[in-house]
Amino acid sequence: MNDVTKPTDSEIEKPEIPAGDFSVWLEDIRQVLLQDRGIEVPCGGCQACCKSSYFIHIRPEEKETLRRIDKKLLFPVPGLPRGNRLLGYFENGQCPLLVDERCSIYEHRSKTCRAYDCRIFAAAGIDAGEDHKTLVNERIRRWRFSYPGQQDLDQHVAVQKAARFIREHAECFPEGKVPHDSSQLAILAIKVYNVFLNDGQPPGPACSDREMAQAVVGANEAFEARRKTGISPA
Ligand code: SF4
Repeated sequence: MNDVTKPTDSEIEKPEIPAGDFSVWLEDIRQVLLQDRGIEVPCGGCQACCKSSYFIHIRPEEKETLRRIDKKLLFPVPGLPRGNRLLGYFENGQCPLLVDERCSIYEHRSKTCRAYDCRIFAAAGIDAGEDHKTLVNERIRRWRFSYPGQQDLDQHVAVQKAARFIREHAECFPEGKVPHDSSQLAILAIKVYNVFLNDGQPPGPACSDREMAQAVVGANEAFEARRKTGISPA
């Protein structure tokens, strides 16, 4: 368990929150990414993600969601077709739809909100960034996965290794293949973690950083291909 990030003394001051068995959670979040669906997160009363300066992507087909949001709060999404919209946030990082500490469109919230799970950062051993991310970072540091079997531990170590490798070897990747944003980095690590399992088939432990980067790119492309064809990722 040497490679799993341990909490610092200051993080121990707040109670830990059970994040579930790692392997079960990992399979679930990979299916969420594959099927483009939501996930049940044991948030309790936490609304940290609704106060953390996230732009919320709302797709053209989410008509019920779009209908409930003041058009003045919505913007086009750079690089995506017309009809895709971004919901902005207030200067303090809070979503304008969070009213009296509750989501005012909860039953009709976007797919982006339904699929958000800050355990991805705990899994990857990274925080969510800096810009108004204090609340969500505090929450991330409190999650504790459980490891009922060796596989849980091996997979968690592999996800963290993947995130660390991608972050520390950006120069080995083709241009545009390394996410600049923490969310996308954590998601990429979750998609390609099997490259970093000890029993992973090539590349072996002796391969170069560039070969490893190539394997990461290949694993991500394979995941995306399965997502598009609806075939479950191995
Ligand atoms: S739309 Fe609702 S769930 Fe989504 S960020 Fe805003 S308040 Fe939170």
